[in-house]
Amino acid sequence: MTPPDLPRPDPTGLPVVADWFSVTWVTGSIAMLTEPHVDDLLRANLWYVRGRERDLLVDSGNGVAPLRPVLSRFARGRDREPIAVATHAHIDHIGGLHEFERRLLHPLEEAAASRISEITPLWTADWPEEFTAQLTEAGLPPAPLLVGARPAPDFDPATFRIAPVTATHLVEGGDVIDLGERQFQVLHLPGHTRGSIGLWDEAAGALFSGDVVYDAELLDTLPESSVEDYVRTMRRLLDLPVAVVYPGHEEPFGRERLREIARAYLREHDG
Ligand SMILES: [Zn+2]
Ligand SMILES: [Zn+2]
Repeated sequence: MTPPDLPRPDPTGLPVVADWFSVTWVTGSIAMLTEPHVDDLLRANLWYVRGRERDLLVDSGNGVAPLRPVLSRFARGRDREPIAVATHAHIDHIGGLHEFERRLLHPLEEAAASRISEITPLWTADWPEEFTAQLTEAGLPPAPLLVGARPAPDFDPATFRIAPVTATHLVEGGDVIDLGERQFQVLHLPGHTRGSIGLWDEAAGALFSGDVVYDAELLDTLPESSVEDYVRTMRRLLDLPVAVVYPGHEEPFGRERLREIARAYLREHDG
């Protein structure tokens, strides 16, 4: 049986919104941004950390609307742009990375990043069938159109593609990103993807975790995932003296919830 052809969406039916990103300051120096008009499947968190010497951006959304002008408002008149990190090379975490001068990525994500422009991220009828099948199998069947609004009148979600991007710096576990008064250690935390990283501010007990851990169903059945790696990563997270996790999806949470999530994963998959 062949699936029925889906009618192409009429982009002119979508409202145009001026502020594409929502912004919430969770501390005096950490802002959480997200894209409220993007479907759940691709609605990720972007984290902006204002430092004394330098600023940091952890993930950059889907690339639907320009991000740099939004962040330059946070720089309080200082002429500087953040060090931009992608926790991994999935569509919803790397879409805006091309806008920034310093672009950091783990080497094991380079190949996926180089293919980021190959699909129409918001119009799933043109996705490779096996990709849709994997997501459906994981309990996340994608809707045909993954936005409910447009950032500009000439934006066509059915033909939109993420701009090609390459990293300017490759980072590995143990590398340090120094913002002046706070330092982030790169943790290599494979499982969701082979080159997934977290950023760990030990002094504050703060972990920016990307899709390694968040408080919802975790994805470990993608072709780039490994349950075996994920088990090792979860054991490592159990031992980390975390005070707060700033995740790639959903809301921040504390150490007890992190330990519950990690223990639940290990109960299901370890041994
Ligand atoms: Zn991901
Ligand atoms: Zn994600």
